Amino acid sequence: MYDVKLLIDGAWSASSDGQWSPIVNPATEEQVGRHAIATSEDLSRAAEAAERGFRLWRRKTSLERSAILRGAATRLRENARAIGEDITRENGKIIGESIAEVNWAADTLDWYAEEGRRAYGRIIPEKMPDMHQYVAKEPVGPVLALSPWNWPLVTSTRKVAPALAAGCSVILKPAEETPSAAVALAKALLDAGLPSGVLGIVMGIPGEISRQLIAAPQIRKVSFTGSVPVGKLLAAQAAEAGLKRMTLELGGHAPVIIWDDADVDDAVKKLIPVKFRTSGQVCSSPSRFFVHNAVRERFVARLVEGVAALRLGNGMDDGVTLGPLTSERRLNAVGRLVEDAVSKGAKLCAGGQRHGTVGYFFEPTVLDSVSDAATLATEEIFGPVIPVIGFDSYEEVIGKANASTLGLSAYVFTRSLEMANRFSRDIESGMVGVNTLLVSMVEAPFGGVKESGYGQEGGIEGIDPYMVNKFVSQAFA
Ligand code: NAD
Repeated sequence: MYDVKLLIDGAWSASSDGQWSPIVNPATEEQVGRHAIATSEDLSRAAEAAERGFRLWRRKTSLERSAILRGAATRLRENARAIGEDITRENGKIIGESIAEVNWAADTLDWYAEEGRRAYGRIIPEKMPDMHQYVAKEPVGPVLALSPWNWPLVTSTRKVAPALAAGCSVILKPAEETPSAAVALAKALLDAGLPSGVLGIVMGIPGEISRQLIAAPQIRKVSFTGSVPVGKLLAAQAAEAGLKRMTLELGGHAPVIIWDDADVDDAVKKLIPVKFRTSGQVCSSPSRFFVHNAVRERFVARLVEGVAALRLGNGMDDGVTLGPLTSERRLNAVGRLVEDAVSKGAKLCAGGQRHGTVGYFFEPTVLDSVSDAATLATEEIFGPVIPVIGFDSYEEVIGKANASTLGLSAYVFTRSLEMANRFSRDIESGMVGVNTLLVSMVEAPFGGVKESGYGQEGGIEGIDPYMVNKFVSQAFA
């Protein structure tokens, strides 16, 4: 049993009224620890500390900030196994994925350590004599970062690293299910020399924390990764609280198009590990499988073989390739979506139900001939379920793919250059993979269109949301 405390002004503490909430291992349903529940007084202190931290941190040189981010990256890598075990214990994903997540977070810190040094602004060539005019990039101010439970370390680092690199202070609220990764990130940064108050960690009742801190005068920017309904609520609150800037990375319902000329075996080989990563609880996960009717039967048969080879179990155990869902809420939601699809005519080809009676395990599931009327045809699945929908023409499939209110990532498998180009142009989506599922990497922007949100994380674009442009126009005399 362990305690996850609040980090306020450089000190780890219980909440001011001593309230705690349990942390549960989704593979065993046992309580493994508890986290503090921040009070309103704790949140006020965190906001004041963030303001002081900002005034101090923005005056550091880019090199000083860069060295601290790099130092934190090294510390994460050195402790990758232990941090990975914490992630698996709280989230359920298999340990190999958790360790890979730690290394990805370290790479993100390294990337923004350098991007901060390149936040140049620009000088405008003289338009009138004896004038000096330039655009300076300045940190936006104290940031409220709200991260989810599916990638607890990477999603937190994608906000904290660029914000710190830009010169902002941050209050990070990790998801209450998986708070240890945020603690590991904060410890790495503090060990590397981050001054007190520059990073705070709070957790407790999400609605109360976001309401108070979004409205807090010290907070100038909010970044949220999570669901569409919560994103809309927070965006409204941020507007009301003084048109505060927002980055929203919300859900996805990624279409995968398997064209009739695709290498079906290769596509399935690539799709299975990515689809079942983190038990399908990934916003960029392939989610709606549109398969040309000429190859659908073969594709479904390969999928069923691939799924049969997965080993469901505790993510900490050797040989396990698929862990549980992270919460009972997700287990019930996924079960309901599958039942609904079957009741509306889908053919159950593999899985379809909860696995065992202890832990939030759901069988890897393949559904064929899913009707447009099924709820999962329009609603994000966020679980280990593959719905296959047949099609015959490009117009039909691009229409269905774009009918979603979400547009985060999309994939096509084809040997045709023309098809690859058409799809990449026509699809309404923030990221596109052609014969690959690799659309998320430190070097590239990650973010969606439509209700998937706005603003991007990652790449050279990922630091912009934490800076404002200031134009200075100066006459010599
Ligand atoms: P949910 O809507 O209950 O919560 C989503 C997240 O928002 C959670 O981390 C929760 O703690 C937080 N949250 C809820 N209310 C909040 C509030 N008022 N203020 C601040 N934070 C608040 O959904 P869920 O069951 O936890 O997750 C499933 C859905 O969330 C899926 O549909 C998925 O799209 C979305 N999700 C997306 C991502 C992503 O990477 N984009 C990550 C996790 C969840």
